[in-house]
Amino acid sequence: MKSTIVLLGPPGSGKGTQGEKLTEEFGYVRLSTGDMLREAVRNGTDLGKKAKEYMDSGALVPNDIIIGLMKEKIAATDGKVLLDGFPRTVEQADALAEQLDVDLALNLDVDDEELMVRLTKRRSCPKCNAVYHLVYNKPAKDGICDKCGSELYHRDDDKEETVSNRLAVYRKNTMPLIDYYSKKGTLVTIKGVGSIDEIYEQVKKAVQ
Ligand code: AMP
Repeated sequence: MKSTIVLLGPPGSGKGTQGEKLTEEFGYVRLSTGDMLREAVRNGTDLGKKAKEYMDSGALVPNDIIIGLMKEKIAATDGKVLLDGFPRTVEQADALAEQLDVDLALNLDVDDEELMVRLTKRRSCPKCNAVYHLVYNKPAKDGICDKCGSELYHRDDDKEETVSNRLAVYRKNTMPLIDYYSKKGTLVTIKGVGSIDEIYEQVKKAVQ
């Protein structure tokens, strides 16, 4: 069983959904930089104030802020950890490598057209961070989170103009990590299309 996992893949590729399933079944500590930053923005903390402008435009938050944040969070785990949305640059990956050995970099591969449909129709829970899709993964009751009953919302950065920018940022800054982890021999790429359960079957095989 792999104990330290990095989830790679563009925004909307299913990192959150698959990561959550792995966490529920195998008890990883899931650390999602996106969820942490959104919470910081909602709570108006110093971190949130610094991060908001970058997030609103779909840009990456500066490396020093993210690396500092994740160092602390990772240090507080017992080592069985699933990283969702980190690292997103080679500099972040190098900083991570100084702290722990990544056993598996799981890359979810989905094309841009499908990502645009997924993100513009994605709805998120502000409280427990569960995600839904208006067509493929609807909540039982319209607009309400199945897990915690909160009202779902459409993330500002899941709107079309910002999604295009996020995808461009992904290609430029994060895609090089596919090569980075391939050279380290830890990369597994899975086609992130099909039903959530079909994809999860392949994800589980990679993890075991
Ligand atoms: P996500 O929910 O993972 O799509 O992240 C939402 C936004 O948070 C991104 O568009 C970035 O602005 C910021 N963010 C999340 N993770 C990172 C990271 N590792 N490095 C820099 N910015 C990040």
